[in-house]
Amino acid sequence: MAMPSDSHVHSEWSWDTGGPRSAAAGTMARTCARAVEIGLPALAVTDHLDVEGWLAGAEDARRFPALVHDGRLRPPPLEIDGYLAAVDRCRAAYPQLRVLTGVELGQPHLVGDVAGTVDLRTLDRVVGSLHTLPVGEERAERGGCTRTTTPPTSSTPISRRWS
Ligand SMILES: [Zn+2]
Repeated sequence: MAMPSDSHVHSEWSWDTGGPRSAAAGTMARTCARAVEIGLPALAVTDHLDVEGWLAGAEDARRFPALVHDGRLRPPPLEIDGYLAAVDRCRAAYPQLRVLTGVELGQPHLVGDVAGTVDLRTLDRVVGSLHTLPVGEERAERGGCTRTTTPPTSSTPISRRWS
């Protein structure tokens, strides 16, 4: 039986992995090696592209302390040049695997034109995702929104949000 393609995987270029200079380094290559091993014909590396931040929950503060400022989590930009170079290396290393470029664009209905950071037209695949919901005048990740009945405000201490 032919295996289907995987149209949505992440690599070390997604900010929530810690980035390409973290322990996640090499994830894209390992994912491609595994894809070849199990017989996938193709995969799309759709790393996170989040333009807007959101109210940081307790989990955000614990996992990404360096990205939380003034109670908001601000994802760093996707390092598109490094990401594309990594895709090129994987294509060269695994010619039997079709490696597609892509991003997972968070809250695409809010961010408008992201061409200043990444030209979406040059990518093979763009996945739109909804990870945050409105909380008062702010936005928060959906998991946090469902874990509380009292929405936090920007003056709520981070340690008390979504706990
Ligand atoms: Zn994803």
